[in-house]
Amino acid sequence: MKSEDILLHLLIFGLIAAVCGQSKGWKTAPSFFVGFVLGPVGVLITLIGGRNEAVLERMAIESRQRKRCRSCGELIRMEAVKCRHCGEPVAAETA
Ligand SMILES: [Zn+2]
Repeated sequence: MKSEDILLHLLIFGLIAAVCGQSKGWKTAPSFFVGFVLGPVGVLITLIGGRNEAVLERMAIESRQRKRCRSCGELIRMEAVKCRHCGEPVAAETA
């Protein structure tokens, strides 16, 4: 295999790892780096790695898919009228 081909494959693994990592709330650049350096193993790491819940929660709130219950602080759907965690009524918001 030519060195350009290897580089291309590593770039592709890097991109796959970056996408997998992003969906778990990981930073894009380090995820890409893991895939680029480790190839298929790096992609596997991003697939089996844990989710960064704090980042995922913030992303859900920023993209207005979720809101935080004022009563218990858990994330609930934007259109919810009652919190599924504590049962408190919440004001329904339309996007
Ligand atoms: Zn609640």
